[in-house]
Amino acid sequence: MIIQPFPSGPLDTNAYVVACAATHDAAIVDPAPDSSEKIIAYMSKYNYQPQKILLTHSHWDHIADAALLKAHYQIPVLIHPDDAGNLERPGSDRLPCRLNIPGVSPDGWLEEGAEIPVGALTFKVIHTPGHTPGGVCLYCAAHRLLLSGDTLFKGSMGTLALPTAQPQLMWNSLKKLARLPPDTKAFPGHGPSTTIGAESWLDQAEKFFGNN
Ligand SMILES: [Zn+2]
Ligand SMILES: [Zn+2]
Repeated sequence: MIIQPFPSGPLDTNAYVVACAATHDAAIVDPAPDSSEKIIAYMSKYNYQPQKILLTHSHWDHIADAALLKAHYQIPVLIHPDDAGNLERPGSDRLPCRLNIPGVSPDGWLEEGAEIPVGALTFKVIHTPGHTPGGVCLYCAAHRLLLSGDTLFKGSMGTLALPTAQPQLMWNSLKKLARLPPDTKAFPGHGPSTTIGAESWLDQAEKFFGNN
């Protein structure tokens, strides 16, 4: 499989293209502000066929170019139902944002246990609420690969200092991730990749981050 990050926008949010090497079908994950031109150029350079847009959560820095790419490729946008409101009406999560983010209607759901095909690849949805109510991680078991959004960063996790964050749910979500195989490579919403095995704090996150 192919995975290519496109760090974009004022918060260096990682948009990703994941593609099936066999079929050239692709998905766009978290189209960050000003990521769309780079993504469109990349798709045409390698002749990948975008099939869907997958959103790990609805924060503005992860959804900014979703409307543009949905219109450009005429492809569906998928998100967890608990984050759909802020996708349709960006800013309803009361997160400050200086950019004008267009709203998008979701076309399908990323719910716990759902299996999302991308060509011959399959991504299983792991609902990981905490940073937002409808946060998800996307896990490809065959390639031991996790798109971890703002739930897990290398050495850290997404902030809980937000109006819609729920710390208790976050500790449980991180415990879920701790149960994945240690050699699973995690590609986060910000910063470099890591592995589940390297993040030995995951099942004790409250102890390490509970006072933040
Ligand atoms: Zn976020
Ligand atoms: Zn983010």
